Amino acid sequence: MKLTFEKIYKKIKHIESEIKELQNLKNKVPENKEYSIELHLAFDKVINDLINQKLELEQLEIENPSKELLQSIFSVDIATASTIQVIPPPLRIEEKDQEVLNFLRRIPKVELHLHIEACISKNTIIQILQEHNEKVDEQEIEKLYNFKNLNDFIKLFLFILDSIKKPEDFIFIFNNLRKYLEKNHIQYAEVFYAPSRLIQNGLPFEEIAKVLDSLAKECQIEGGPEVKFLVDVSRTFGPENASKNLQRVLKAKLDNHIGIGLGGAELMGPARDFKDVFAQARANGLHCVAHSGEDDGPWSIWDTVKILKAERIGHGTSAIQDPNLMEYLRDKTIPIEICLTSNLITGKYVRNPKDHPVRRYYDFGIPCTINTDDPEIFNIDLTQEYYNLYKYLNFSITEIIDLVKMSVQYSFHPKKNMLWNKFFKEIEELRKIYSI
Ligand SMILES: [Zn+2]
Repeated sequence: MKLTFEKIYKKIKHIESEIKELQNLKNKVPENKEYSIELHLAFDKVINDLINQKLELEQLEIENPSKELLQSIFSVDIATASTIQVIPPPLRIEEKDQEVLNFLRRIPKVELHLHIEACISKNTIIQILQEHNEKVDEQEIEKLYNFKNLNDFIKLFLFILDSIKKPEDFIFIFNNLRKYLEKNHIQYAEVFYAPSRLIQNGLPFEEIAKVLDSLAKECQIEGGPEVKFLVDVSRTFGPENASKNLQRVLKAKLDNHIGIGLGGAELMGPARDFKDVFAQARANGLHCVAHSGEDDGPWSIWDTVKILKAERIGHGTSAIQDPNLMEYLRDKTIPIEICLTSNLITGKYVRNPKDHPVRRYYDFGIPCTINTDDPEIFNIDLTQEYYNLYKYLNFSITEIIDLVKMSVQYSFHPKKNMLWNKFFKEIEELRKIYSI
């Protein structure tokens, strides 16, 4: 079906006015009635559907659109573009900001939302395939890493997982992770790995876990970054599979495995289905975190905090739609693991760095930690993420240091105060060196 640009434009404008109308109505719902939360959520669901419809229209490729109209709708620089891009252009670093960037690179950091499978570079994949004596099509791999939409991103992720054939492959992968952490002066990291697909492919969980745990131990003994693991029990394969993964973690009893996470397809696995898994993990002293509000609305985050009692929210991008939820997260000091570039690339709720809700979360008093999610896949690192906050969302250096402090504070590190005191001294020294 061919739609003219004017029709699409009109439809978008119509959806925008409907969203506005619904938001006005939602604001008129009294705050403290028994039905208030239910009604707010009902409004949010409809608003969310409309936002999705609008995003879908915005993703349509249009031949020879009028530049003025496009600019007014999508607020992207389309001076040279003839079609709307699904993925925003890479965030560029200007030369005059190089000193700020150098300073941001050198400051000590913590990262709390990072998937080890997404720290695998193209070269490492090639290395692993060669190790297995498999045919390597470098062009095909290059193509996979240049994905253009969410489906292709998932294809790449599965390709990476399917390339891992034995627990020892994680030696290469951990080395990649270590290089990434050291390059960004990340001294402490909590890292996810998702065993479900690997187990399906015949790899024994216990051996993977042991290899990773001892690599983390060695790394720390050698004076490298401290790495702890959160096993992503995964929502994609359902609660039974997640429960099995939890039993495996409990049975393995490894020092550097400190908790579980819930990742995977948010729309396929509602948080409430995993209530028992999380309750059992908590009862056994494991930390619990969950991706939420990345691909679904604020109701998903409500379930994650109320039912799963997750200690941190991964992404939490849709919390901005619900003022009550924002208040709740602030008052209960439940931190959000912000992944700015990841949210822009998957593009569900935010398509322009300037629109990312992290600025409003921070100003509102919600604890925020800054993360990359999938650095090698998204071609991003933590230094650049801090720089993006500085560049696109007007975070001052003092605010950025406050965010670094929050990442320490809301980590599961056993000696957070000591770690922050060490960081603080190093940062003070660097501020003098860079006159920042
Ligand atoms: Zn993630």
